[in-house]
Amino acid sequence: MSQYPMSPVMGQMMSQPLLTSCVIRHADRYHGNQEIVSRRAEGDIHRYTYTECHRRSRQMANALSGLGVEVGDRVATLAWNGYRHMELYYAISGSGAVMHTINPRLHPEQIAYIVNHAEDQYLFFDLNLLPLVESFHAHCKTVKGYVMMCGLSSMPDKTSIPNLMCYEALIDASSELYDWSQFDENSASSLCYTSGTTGNPKGVLYSHRSTVLHSYASAMPDALNISARDTVLPVVPMFHVNAWGLPYTVPMVGAKLVLPGSSLDGKSLYELFEQEKVTVSGGVPTVWLGLLNHVSQNKLKFSTFKRMVTGGSACPPAMMKTFRNDYGVEVLHTWGMTEMSPLGTACTLQSHHLGLPEEQKQAILEKQGHAIFGVDMKIVDDAGKELPWDGQTYGNLLVKGPWVINSYFKGEGGGVLQEGWFPTGDVATISPDGYMQITDRSKDVIKSGGEWIGSIDLENIAMAHPAVQQAACVGVFHPKWDERPLLVVVKKPGAEVSKEDLIQFYDGKIAKWWTPDDVTFVDALPLGATGKVLKNKVREQFKEYKLPA
Ligand code: AMP
Repeated sequence: MSQYPMSPVMGQMMSQPLLTSCVIRHADRYHGNQEIVSRRAEGDIHRYTYTECHRRSRQMANALSGLGVEVGDRVATLAWNGYRHMELYYAISGSGAVMHTINPRLHPEQIAYIVNHAEDQYLFFDLNLLPLVESFHAHCKTVKGYVMMCGLSSMPDKTSIPNLMCYEALIDASSELYDWSQFDENSASSLCYTSGTTGNPKGVLYSHRSTVLHSYASAMPDALNISARDTVLPVVPMFHVNAWGLPYTVPMVGAKLVLPGSSLDGKSLYELFEQEKVTVSGGVPTVWLGLLNHVSQNKLKFSTFKRMVTGGSACPPAMMKTFRNDYGVEVLHTWGMTEMSPLGTACTLQSHHLGLPEEQKQAILEKQGHAIFGVDMKIVDDAGKELPWDGQTYGNLLVKGPWVINSYFKGEGGGVLQEGWFPTGDVATISPDGYMQITDRSKDVIKSGGEWIGSIDLENIAMAHPAVQQAACVGVFHPKWDERPLLVVVKKPGAEVSKEDLIQFYDGKIAKWWTPDDVTFVDALPLGATGKVLKNKVREQFKEYKLPA
């Protein structure tokens, strides 16, 4: 029975389920010679085509069925961005099983928790993650076997891992004849656990339908704007929110795909960008900082790189300007979350902005952006009342759409929706023309005398100072105001700046009472498993900090 009260006349179009296997099949048939280039854990560069990727995915699908993997079973991957991981994306989901990507930067105990929670049947892992798997496999209760993603010559002579198989041996022993199964597009395709900064991580279970729709939407010109003329390098890992869906979007449009493996430092990335003529890349701001340091210290230029997609945390406007003005790289600010597959907004200009002075255009581009079609947003107060879109009023940001979570895996955390909307935990403003700007994560807002201070603005200003590499602003206890901002700063190598100069740097840039009360210098900020600054750790570290009276 239909879930809707009305029964209109039904359309007479073919009903074809939106399955991820359609994507690789399309890439093979229509962009078969397009390349996938990978930097391998073995240390070399591997290149092949979408046609070969499709063939090996089918072989792997046969291998999985030989291992007894059944529809709905979870199969885990613990791997960097590479072609074998790409084959597993299609082989696992395409055969009706669920691909569970795991972040190798998590603590081994947390990995074992996730594997057990997901009830993973097999675990595939990259060559250089063998010691990690050896450290936790004994705690995994459901895993029947482990597959090392390498050739026979790289297999270890001795290991504590039971039933360890070789990826290439499985491929070699399997037929390439495999017809992708047809099933309900709402079936689960992949599973990704949230970073879980507090409590245990929770699973987000994407469907084939949500994944394919998200890929269509991501490719659009005012979203990631990816076409068959691009060469795309996802720095964002395939173990976190499906690398922002790029392993689907890129073959969908037939672009060249470059997969960087585990070396994500500025030098390794720059070399790959130049060697493979990368035009578009996506990653978190900390990765871009590393790349920027490398190119500026070595006086390098990019010859083909033209669009950098940044998301995951706020993009410092100073970095955006440097990339654009000094290197000719356009920076696309995007926002989303694991629970949203992840893309929610992207920031591009509209026709009525084109005549504006550069500074005003830049101010718009610094925002998190416009909802892409498929995502609806609203801001509400703590009582759930919708707030105006005036670009000033900030409130809790709620979203809905076909690639937004409905409930966590196994119902963890109970009902998560508020009257059909998903509360993101972010605090934002929305302008009259629909541009959303994140003020803060609600947990990071600094509460000073009953008013809110957004830490992102304070960090962005600090990072515009020439001596500042990275900054985090946290609320610390104040006897009169409850909390006041403390600025925690990592200086650029060799740069000097005093506390007083930094505090003065805020003059005229922000309401006086938002100015941080104090500044402290550190060698590094704590980073989480996805490369974001862990504000809860910074808060914890400076819990007892005494602000100047
Ligand atoms: P995750 O699910 O780990 O990808 O984290 C999602 C969260 O990252 C969001 O709820 C935001 O708090 C934050 N985030 C993502 N993109 C941005 C952005 N462009 N600016 C500010 N915060 C962001």
